[in-house]
Amino acid sequence: MINIVLFGKPGAGKGTQAEFLKDKYNLTHISTGDVFRYNIKNETPLGKEAQAFINDGQLVPDSLTIKMLQDEVEKNSQSRGFLFDGFPRTIAQADALDAFLATKNWDVTATVALEADDEILVARLLERGKTSGRSDDQDEEKIRNRYQEYNEKTAPLIEYYQNQNKFYSVNGIGSVAEVTERLSSVIEELEAKIRG
Ligand code: ADP
Ligand code: AMP
Repeated sequence: MINIVLFGKPGAGKGTQAEFLKDKYNLTHISTGDVFRYNIKNETPLGKEAQAFINDGQLVPDSLTIKMLQDEVEKNSQSRGFLFDGFPRTIAQADALDAFLATKNWDVTATVALEADDEILVARLLERGKTSGRSDDQDEEKIRNRYQEYNEKTAPLIEYYQNQNKFYSVNGIGSVAEVTERLSSVIEELEAKIRG
């Protein structure tokens, strides 16, 4: 079992990289943002509860998010490992993830962060907004809210995982293939460690 948290600010490239890594390492990719958007599109009760928060660039409350993540993991319990993208985003979510994985004798293998400067990321999100149809990508104020949420609630996870010796970071600037290579080196190092 290998469970990787793909970490980084909005626009860092988590979703882009997950698409390659999930096939390369045969992992189940869970993007909480994608699951929320699917539920909004299908007008489910969860989608209706989450919609206003997402639209404003705020985090969805922990209780809703944690329950949803657990359901997604349960649906894929035969997986050889998970690639968590956009989760956890708060200390409460990280604690809940550890506790939930422990019930299955699993754990977070490592958190790997994609690093990039804010100006580059805001430009990427505005560009993505031209084609993504995502309301939270099209307005600088909403984008700014997302960075504020990141700084206040998500950035403390860096220390959280550093304290467990599970935090790795790679440069998120470069071609998509270059960044995939950097992430692959970390994942292969982790797999070698697991194999002993
Ligand atoms: P995240 O999932 O972290 O929010 P995405 O993977 O959606 O980020 O990437 C944000 C935007 O940046 C997308 O439009 C994507 O095409 C673009 N992008 C991703 N990786 C790179 C890269 N290495 N260089 C330039 N643009 C990138
Ligand atoms: P993303 O696609 O990861 O950029 O997420 C889009 C939006 O979905 C975020 O701005 C939040 O409103 C919501 N969201 C996604 N993941 C989480 C999470 N782990 N906790 C709270 N809200 C989340």
